[in-house]
Amino acid sequence: MNHAAQPGQAERDLLRDSLRGFLGRHWPAARAVGGHADAAALRAIWRGLAGQGLTALGSDPEIGGMAEVLVAMEELGRAACPVPLYDAALANLALGQSVDPQACRLLAELHAGDAMLAWAFGVADGDAGAGAVMVRGNHADGVLRFVDAGLAATHVLTPGAQAGVLTLLSCAGPACVANPARAMGMDGQAELTFANAPVLALPGAAVRPADLHRLRRLCLIARAHGAARRAFEMAVDYAKERQQFGKPIGSFQALQHKLANCLISLEGVRLTAHNAAAQYERGSADWRYFASAAIAYAGAALRQVSLETHHAFGAIGYAEEHEAPRHFRRVHLDCLAMGGVRRAREELAAHYFDQAGSLPRHDLGAAGNAFRDEVAAWLAIHWSGERKAAFDARPFHEREFDSAFARDIGKTGWIGLAWPREHGGQARTPIEQIAFMEEMERGEAPRIGASVQATALMLFGTPAQQGKYLPEILAGEAMHGMGYSEPNAGSDLAALKTSAVRDGDGWVINGQKIWTTTWWGKYMFLAARTNREARPAHAGISMFIVPMDTTGIQVKPAATMYDGTFSNIFYDNVRVPADALVGEVDGGWKVLTGALATERGLVGGGIVLKVAHGFKQLCDLIRASARQGQPLREDPLVRERIAQFAADIEVGRQLMMHCAELAGTGATPPETGAISKVFSGELMERIGEGALEILGMAATLSQGAPGAIQNGRFEQNLRHSLMWVISIGTNEIQRSLIAQRGLGLPR
Ligand SMILES: Cc1cc2nc3c(=O)[nH]c(=O)nc-3n(C[C@H](O)[C@H](O)[C@H](O)COP(=O)(O)OP(=O)(O)OC[C@H]3O[C@@H](n4cnc5c(N)ncnc54)[C@H](O)[C@@H]3O)c2cc1C
Repeated sequence: MNHAAQPGQAERDLLRDSLRGFLGRHWPAARAVGGHADAAALRAIWRGLAGQGLTALGSDPEIGGMAEVLVAMEELGRAACPVPLYDAALANLALGQSVDPQACRLLAELHAGDAMLAWAFGVADGDAGAGAVMVRGNHADGVLRFVDAGLAATHVLTPGAQAGVLTLLSCAGPACVANPARAMGMDGQAELTFANAPVLALPGAAVRPADLHRLRRLCLIARAHGAARRAFEMAVDYAKERQQFGKPIGSFQALQHKLANCLISLEGVRLTAHNAAAQYERGSADWRYFASAAIAYAGAALRQVSLETHHAFGAIGYAEEHEAPRHFRRVHLDCLAMGGVRRAREELAAHYFDQAGSLPRHDLGAAGNAFRDEVAAWLAIHWSGERKAAFDARPFHEREFDSAFARDIGKTGWIGLAWPREHGGQARTPIEQIAFMEEMERGEAPRIGASVQATALMLFGTPAQQGKYLPEILAGEAMHGMGYSEPNAGSDLAALKTSAVRDGDGWVINGQKIWTTTWWGKYMFLAARTNREARPAHAGISMFIVPMDTTGIQVKPAATMYDGTFSNIFYDNVRVPADALVGEVDGGWKVLTGALATERGLVGGGIVLKVAHGFKQLCDLIRASARQGQPLREDPLVRERIAQFAADIEVGRQLMMHCAELAGTGATPPETGAISKVFSGELMERIGEGALEILGMAATLSQGAPGAIQNGRFEQNLRHSLMWVISIGTNEIQRSLIAQRGLGLPR
């Protein structure tokens, strides 16, 4: 595949806009429900879509392939239009290259809008109730159920007994009877009964039936996504207008957080589904895995979005005259069809446990892939064998940093891989940063850098500060702690009380910081109040770089729940020179948030890469383990759990890639980074819990305990996971940000 002239995002946006406009005119919401059971209306909209060239999608990659089909399916879902465009697309993909005259004729009729076909997969459908047709010679009998717009269907296509041959049945004439079938209280589907119906064999099918089946399910998910997103958008608008207790309901945090969850899910579905389609277009063998992951995630996530949407509407959305109920039905029908989530999870489990598959690596482009290899090769030399084994044997609190390793990697310049060249960096793209992070996780290398502080210095430091501190960071010689939180200032950082008072040619700092992780670093990047009167409170904060060997600093380390350490740090008349100030006096909020905003985009990515690495270890262990003589990989509950995690990891990775791609264009909307951080942090907790459930008590044995599994890795992962949910802005704070910045809900 991989055609140079394939449509890009701009063309897809155009397709989306024009189809939305077309459906708005010709299949308006008010007519959508009645039209479902009206064969004439269905045929009319079908011909209209054909006139727009849509029934030909899939026949010529330069006009549109799976990526465009998904866009069209989403729009049909939004408009509650049940015509089977996906089945036309599958026919185009399968028979587009066929020279068989009957196949060519069928496609010509399809493109003209004269034919409307449905695919039937029979026993391979995935749903036992879907029915099947039995072909005997030149005739077929049987019943097909749940056929979309089946009252208007002219043909049915079904994989033939022979490879590369499809069987075509005509719905015209007395051999086929179509009866309307209500499903979930909605018209639109039909049951087709064939009795001695003539069949035609169409040779030259270019796509395997199993692949067509998977593509069809991907299309259904896209349509469900369109429907779920449309209802969700309506609910968000409603939440901005509907008043209760004297304010818009969208200002209530309970609702904000539910709607933020919905947006996270919808983004997860959108990104994974479109990635699967893009991989298919590229001819990547991994597209099947990505499609299964998208379907497995979407099936459960979209149904939840649909429920939450209705909760937000209250009773108004419960009335049939409202648009939301039809979307609710669409979402549930499409997520269940053809085996739905269950089938997709079976495929993922089979990938890991029957086909010896592993988590597919993302294609990071030529530069990203090459850099990934370079980092892997470097780590194989510098972080392996006895050196790594000696490090792994240390207690966890001694594994938070390795100064010799930091200096070694400092020689590569990779600590500044994302920095601009003027500061000695390598100006690499966010995708290359992902490549680096991924290999560091895979190689289980210790953490490096002081990236937030370096960013702050590059953005707000003086040339003298940059010249002094950045080279030390770059060389791996200096770590900076982050002195923000105080006993009474956590999420509400602007409430901090530690003071910095100007005194002669310097500043005097007094106060207490808490939970500071990198307390052992050379410097502290410290937020202090320089103006008590300032309103709002955050306008009176300034940032300082404080050498940790300055007189008056007292550090009281405490153990964290994950065996690491953080500290209470007391600053008692700590005197620093004037040039310790970073940015302007009282301008610290800008320094603090500016640096964090730049970093935040990839925080979620960092988390999901850790999760992915732990997941790989878990799958390897399951493959090698047995319970009561039975291989663990055969346990249906284990398989289901692993499949669920695999799908979730793919969502996390897609959210990460999305952030990186946006950052590459210079835009990192805060809600995008927040979505990635929230999802990945909570996924780490879920997999942490799941791993222990799967492996049992032995996995709770900690590092050093006799019989501990992999040095206590799995139980330690769980204890560590909470940190990612609580720190760097708790997930509740992030959800509020998503709701307010991403959805425009009122504060
Ligand atoms: C392992 C670890 C390492 C850390 N390292 C550092 C460090 O190096 N430097 C540093 O400065 N800090 C560090 N922190 C502190 C971290 O930044 C804070 O824990 C975090 O900002 C939350 O503050 P808090 O703990 O006071 O919780 P609180 O703010 O008291 O929150 C408690 C609960 O209330 C919720 N909540 C609070 N406000 C709202 C709101 N407006 N809406 C909805 N819910 C709300 C929170 O989401 C949370 O669930 C670390 C924390 C941990 C756990």
